[in-house]
Amino acid sequence: MALPMKFFSKLTPHLLEGLFPNYCLLCGLRSYRDFALCSLCESGLAANDACCTQCALPMPWALPNRNGLRGARCGQCLLSPPAFDRVVAPWLYDEQMAFLIHRWKFHGERQLTPLLAHLWLQPFSESAQAIDIIVPVPLHWRKFWHRGFNQSLILAAALRGQCEALRTVRLSTRLVQRHQATLPQSSLSALARKTNLIAAFTARQRCDNLRIAIVDDVLTTGATAAAMATTLRDAGAAHIEIWCLARTPAPNN
Ligand SMILES: [Zn+2]
Ligand SMILES: [Zn+2]
Repeated sequence: MALPMKFFSKLTPHLLEGLFPNYCLLCGLRSYRDFALCSLCESGLAANDACCTQCALPMPWALPNRNGLRGARCGQCLLSPPAFDRVVAPWLYDEQMAFLIHRWKFHGERQLTPLLAHLWLQPFSESAQAIDIIVPVPLHWRKFWHRGFNQSLILAAALRGQCEALRTVRLSTRLVQRHQATLPQSSLSALARKTNLIAAFTARQRCDNLRIAIVDDVLTTGATAAAMATTLRDAGAAHIEIWCLARTPAPNN
């Protein structure tokens, strides 16, 4: 009697887990699931849920942005609002998250991509319906040549692959071009730094009335994302979000 395909597709993950068990990268024990992170360690990751509602800067004293509660914007966003409307950064860039992202990005462990997409999608709620295009932060060709992959692109592709609601959203690697290596930022004044970064991005076509999600891995100062958002806003974008895995705290914290 022929066994239905459904039987094999259900059986395969268990067989693979038996033959090649996954071990948790954080505690070293068997994870007993498809990811190299056990449920216990995942539940111990630090959520970035008390943060600025616009740039997601951690503000531990603020109200958590959940259960219908709306937190506050940080001083920087109040004084000088960035070109993006909001940042979705579900995790704090603490020691554990830095370890996972480092292994993925700098050690070329691309098999961790589904895990990182899963971590982004876990607290994910209503964002997908409102977005027309997902745009990964482009990598300059020199960096691409050195690293061999664009981490933002493979993360964006995994988010679409793992989330039903995102599958129909267009993923564009052509909308924004990173066409020149930026000058060393450290040698420039604050204003020149901003201009230098904005000059690094060009929109290849108009994006009037589009709602765009820029995908990045980690948001630190937010300067790169803000520069890219400025370019897209100038090209007509109506709404811009930054989707990243984790957010670093303010530099003086
Ligand atoms: Zn673990
Ligand atoms: Zn802010």
